[in-house]
Amino acid sequence: MNVHEYQARQLLTRHGVAVPPGDVCDTPEGAKHVAEELLAGGARLLAVKAQIHAGGRGKGTFKNGFQGGVKLCPTAADVYDKAKAMLGNVLVTKQTGPAGRLVSQLLVAAAPDIRKELYLAVLLDRACSRPVIMASAEGGMDIEEVAARTPEKIVREPVDPALGLMPYQARKVAVALGLKGDLLAQGAKLLLGVYQTWWQCDASLVEINPLCVVRTIEGKDALLAVDAKVALEDNGLYRHPDIQAMRDLAEEAPLEVEAGKHNLNYIKLEGNIACLVNGAGLAMATMDIIQHFGGRPANFLDVGGGASQEQVAAAFQIILRDANVKGILVNIFGGIMDCDVIATGIVAAVKATGLSLPLVVRLEGNNVQSARRTLLASALTIINGSSMADAAQKVVRAVAAKQG
Ligand code: GDP
Ligand code: MN
Repeated sequence: MNVHEYQARQLLTRHGVAVPPGDVCDTPEGAKHVAEELLAGGARLLAVKAQIHAGGRGKGTFKNGFQGGVKLCPTAADVYDKAKAMLGNVLVTKQTGPAGRLVSQLLVAAAPDIRKELYLAVLLDRACSRPVIMASAEGGMDIEEVAARTPEKIVREPVDPALGLMPYQARKVAVALGLKGDLLAQGAKLLLGVYQTWWQCDASLVEINPLCVVRTIEGKDALLAVDAKVALEDNGLYRHPDIQAMRDLAEEAPLEVEAGKHNLNYIKLEGNIACLVNGAGLAMATMDIIQHFGGRPANFLDVGGGASQEQVAAAFQIILRDANVKGILVNIFGGIMDCDVIATGIVAAVKATGLSLPLVVRLEGNNVQSARRTLLASALTIINGSSMADAAQKVVRAVAAKQG
């Protein structure tokens, strides 16, 4: 699960990481109000930032032509205008894809006097099975280019998860970021806070880009997290009801949200052959075999070990709401699951949806004989797959034939 920047800032501040003061809002009037408070509190410049679950906002473009999802404003009136241009409009960035994302919330924050932009992230390194700190003195909007062209400018510090980030490691990274004197101590402390955020929240990623060296009103140097991204590990979310409450369903794929309501594990893909399978492993094998025979899966869908008729019906509804789907492959291995329950569910769903697409069904295992009888008795045009390979070939062929 991802959260918005304004929520990521809340998680970071719990662990002592400093961020510029600011607040979230969802109307131009609200934005103006936050701006007036920040100006009264001593801010000289304000940042208006579109809240979407995607980066690259600074260089993004709104579909109405407005440039940039991050804008700096000197006055509350200016904040009002920028908020009006952004709210209710769709922002397209490198990370959103061409469809873009609707902006319905903004963060209005004090814009500090930035001297230097650094990059800092904590993530899980699967290769060494450890959390790793990634940092670079070349932070800001072009970190992807730094990674591609000059990877040596990104330092990596693996962390022993049993010990946590050790103070000497935090200082080592702070030195690598080019921090000196008082900033070095501040940087090491901030690193420990960022690591704590990652660890305590069961995050999969905490990324601060840019982490900024700023000049305070008193003329001192300080470190501030000017952008923040936190991605949570879904399997750890049950331990964090407060973070679960931060979920923004509007940012998630609608079909995946609908599937979740029925306890179905659905992930939309780009192909045209829908799959309905029980068990994640079998679902992946099914996608592989479709691909092997020259087809392209439209989704991953695991109905679980003991799906009910209602779940099968819901699964069909969800599959069919994807306009790319040109054929369906049902691949069920009845272990705990009674194949006849699935067969009855399929017949009901085909009738309810008036299905006209080719449907190939491969059933095996528990009570498969009555399942086959149920399918036959329905007199529906359901293509029987005798094995996984047979079923995959049949659905690929049927879809190809339909497309002429
Ligand atoms: P992103 O493009 O989605 O990663 O959004 P960011 O929050 O990182 O903003 C993009 C860029 O805008 C940053 O790298 C900064 O250069 C600039 N920026 C963002 N917030 C501020 C701010 O408060 N003050 C100043 N001066 N620049 C900012
Ligand atoms: Mn950023």
